[in-house]
Amino acid sequence: MLLPKVLQEVLSLPTAPFHEEAVLAVIEAFCRRLKNVTMKYDRYGNLLVRYRYQAPKRTPIAFVAHTDHPGFISGEMKGRKALLAEFRGGVRPEYFAGSKVRFWHEERWIKGRVTKLTKIDPPSGPGRPPVPKEAGIEISKPVPPGCLGMWDLPDAKLQGDRIVARACDDLAGVAALLALLERLDKRRAKADVYCLFTRAEEVGFVGAVGAIRAKVIPKRVPVVSIETSSALVSAKIGDGPIVRIGDRMVVYTPRFAAFAARVAQDLAQRKSSFQYQRKLMDGGMCEAAAFGCYGYDVIGICLALGNYHNMNTKRKRIGSEWVSYRDWRNMVDLFEALVLDKRGPTGPDDGLKKRIDKLFDDQAALLG
Ligand SMILES: [Zn+2]
Repeated sequence: MLLPKVLQEVLSLPTAPFHEEAVLAVIEAFCRRLKNVTMKYDRYGNLLVRYRYQAPKRTPIAFVAHTDHPGFISGEMKGRKALLAEFRGGVRPEYFAGSKVRFWHEERWIKGRVTKLTKIDPPSGPGRPPVPKEAGIEISKPVPPGCLGMWDLPDAKLQGDRIVARACDDLAGVAALLALLERLDKRRAKADVYCLFTRAEEVGFVGAVGAIRAKVIPKRVPVVSIETSSALVSAKIGDGPIVRIGDRMVVYTPRFAAFAARVAQDLAQRKSSFQYQRKLMDGGMCEAAAFGCYGYDVIGICLALGNYHNMNTKRKRIGSEWVSYRDWRNMVDLFEALVLDKRGPTGPDDGLKKRIDKLFDDQAALLG
């Protein structure tokens, strides 16, 4: 079986922090075909896409997905085949030496291999790994400075239920939002939704913070951060997309999380093939944390990811990332359900207080 076009295309694109132009160009071209969609770049180059058609009265929601992936940026050639390259993103130092890489120049890949790490920064905090900053690379042909590089892994493919790609993080999230926008547009769904495609997440939410400061999304609109997140013992690949209620540093907005879980539960009842999980994914942080710091209501929705940041921890070598195709499709279904829910994120809640009040009223006399 083949991957749907949008996944095949987006997951095979070249990208690195601050060099997301190929991904943004594809998003732009994709959305230009849609009727009820507007697009706007903010001053930092993040792309906001808004679908709006006969929207009912309820609070809209915003989805955010980042367009970069940990990668290299070429620096100076130090000899005919020796390149020095900066590394941007979180990959542990032991994965570099000997690993194959490819640099994107004039619409083609130029292959190479890491010889050694030439600069490693100390850990950013307790329990964190050291941060590789620069690598020496043996390259087949000279590349000019400023070209992006990625690990030399094959283009995206479907293997059984596995989507295997050079970069699932967060291109699988980007592709899912495009699938949502296309679906809404085709069905002329009555809805109002923002999809923000951010830059440079892997180096510390740089694009997202720019978008927040540029007030791209109104404060009253709650934000759903879409991610792939390292699978955990309690959050397995294939068990459904995850309503993420927190990360390594913070917990998200309880009321908004309750809304998302209620919509997911309703969807599971309507559709027997739909599966989801509700978890605190404490392996890392995501852009929800950044939006949360600035006062937005936030949650995450993520796919459990294998070989997080291309680290195959079993074989201790660089490998393709992978997610479950079933999880991905269920995630798009969940997005749609969140967008189409009549009550919306600020509507009446599940009546949990009513239920516990009734338990109290029925039994208070027994307290004596
Ligand atoms: Zn990510």
